[in-house]
Amino acid sequence: MKKLIFATGNENKVREIREIMGDLGYEVISMKEAGIDIDIDETGTTFAENALIKAKAVNEICHELVLADDSGLEIDYLGKEPGIYSARYLGHDTPYSEKNRMILERLEGVPDEERTARFVCAVAAVFPDGKSEVCVETMEGRIGHEIAGENGFGYDPIFFLPEYGKTSAEISPEEKNAISHRGKALRAMKEKL
Ligand code: IMP
Repeated sequence: MKKLIFATGNENKVREIREIMGDLGYEVISMKEAGIDIDIDETGTTFAENALIKAKAVNEICHELVLADDSGLEIDYLGKEPGIYSARYLGHDTPYSEKNRMILERLEGVPDEERTARFVCAVAAVFPDGKSEVCVETMEGRIGHEIAGENGFGYDPIFFLPEYGKTSAEISPEEKNAISHRGKALRAMKEKL
């Protein structure tokens, strides 16, 4: 069976990609399962660049098909912050309850129409011959006025989806996968494989 290595240490991401890519006939394995243990500096200035940096770094070691993703939250009122720094915003180890509280504070008094935001996900593929492809997709919404919901992770409890009247932490995982930036980018990449 052909191998597809996903350049992440995050088992949840590996599970998600297995579900989406499952029927393509690849054995989807994580970096760890492939015996690759490297720290990759995300030195790019865009989600697409960072996803490509990660996929290339792993492909240079194993020369197999490698996929990697990079994602984050862009808040228009904050000049698209935290953007590619989403995981590092206010410090890597700061709990999301605190990061989310701080964002709500920075947006205090800002009307709904100026609270527009989006999750962005870039998925990069580097093929055994070194050629590459990148797919970038978004999930549009706005920053809510309070923290709500227990599903999801990260910034989901403050990301309000007007068409659902709920945050992305209040919809089910299946509902989120169907509309999420990562789900859409992975499905777009699937078409290219
Ligand atoms: P990555 O794992 O380097 O792509 O970092 C993504 C960061 O962006 C995460 O740590 C979260 O802070 C944020 N993020 C990306 N996608 C989502 C999502 O679907 N929900 C909530 N936060 C997300």
